[in-house]
Amino acid sequence: MKYALVTGGSRGIGRAVCVKLASMGYHVLVNYVSNETEADNTLTMIAEAGGTGEKIRFDVGNADETLAAVEAWQEAHEGEYIEVLVNNAGIRKDNLMLWMESDEWFKVLNVTLNGFYNVTRPLLKPMLVKKFGRIINMASVSGLMGMQGQCNYSAAKGGIVAATKALAKEVGAKGVTVNAIAPGFIQTDMVEGLDEAELKKTIPVKRFGKPEEVAALVGFLASKEAGYITGDVISINGGLYT
Ligand code: NAP
Repeated sequence: MKYALVTGGSRGIGRAVCVKLASMGYHVLVNYVSNETEADNTLTMIAEAGGTGEKIRFDVGNADETLAAVEAWQEAHEGEYIEVLVNNAGIRKDNLMLWMESDEWFKVLNVTLNGFYNVTRPLLKPMLVKKFGRIINMASVSGLMGMQGQCNYSAAKGGIVAATKALAKEVGAKGVTVNAIAPGFIQTDMVEGLDEAELKKTIPVKRFGKPEEVAALVGFLASKEAGYITGDVISINGGLYT
C-alpha cells in the first residue's frame, strides 16, 4: 500500500487532490478540521474513482493534536510510511492592514506556516529513511505578487514559498522533493463572496480555475517522473501573474 496525506482534503482543491492521488493508486488520508460530512463526501468520490482512503481529523495549526494524530497513524502502520504529503489546508481572513485584528493575522499565519511545520516535521524522517518522498505545498499567487487586503495571507504564502526552497535543499540528496504550487483564483468555497465577473476581466484566460486543474499538477509533482523538479514554485493562474 502506498500512502498519501492531504491536509484540508474535505473540500475544494484538497478534495480534487485526494481523488487524483487515489486514482494514481494511493491510499489517501483525508485530513479535515471540522467538516466531517464533507470529508465523508471526499471518501465517496475516492471510492467512485476506484480508490481507497480514510479520514484523519486534526487541526494543522494545533501542534499537539497534529502530532498525536500522525503518531497514532504511524504506530498503527509499522513499517509503512506516508510518501506523499500535500500541505493544502488554508484559510483567509482578509482585511486592510489598517484594520487588521491580531486574531486575523495570527490565525492565518498559524494554519499556513505553523501547519506546514506541524505536519511536515513528523512525516519527514520516514521519507528520508525510505529515500523517497514528495512534499507539495499549496502557496498562492498572493504570496508571489502580494494582494491588497491580504497582508496576512500573502505573508503566510510567501513564507511557504521560502520554506519550500529551504527544505528542498535539505532533503534533495535523499530522494525527497519539495515544491510549492501557487494557484490564482480557483473555484472553491474560499473565493465565495469575491466579485468573479470583475476579477475574470483581469485574468488572461478569462475564467477562474478548477480544483481538478490544480490536482492534475499535484499529481504530476507527486509522480516519479517529477523527480528532477524540486525547490520550485509553479504557478497555475490563467496568466494572471507570470
Ligand atoms: P476551501 O475550499 O476553503 O477548503 C479549505 C480546506 O482546508 C477544507 O478542507 C478545510 O477543512 C481545511 N482546513 C482549514 N483549516 C484547517 C485546519 N486548521 N486544519 C486542517 N484543515 C483545515 O479552500 P481551497 O480554495 O480549496 O484552498 C485550498 C488551499 O489552496 C489553501 O491553502 C488556499 O490558501 C490555497 N489557495 C486557494 C485558492 C483559491 O482561489 N481557491 C487560490 C490560491 C491558493 P474543513 O472542511 O474541515 O473546514
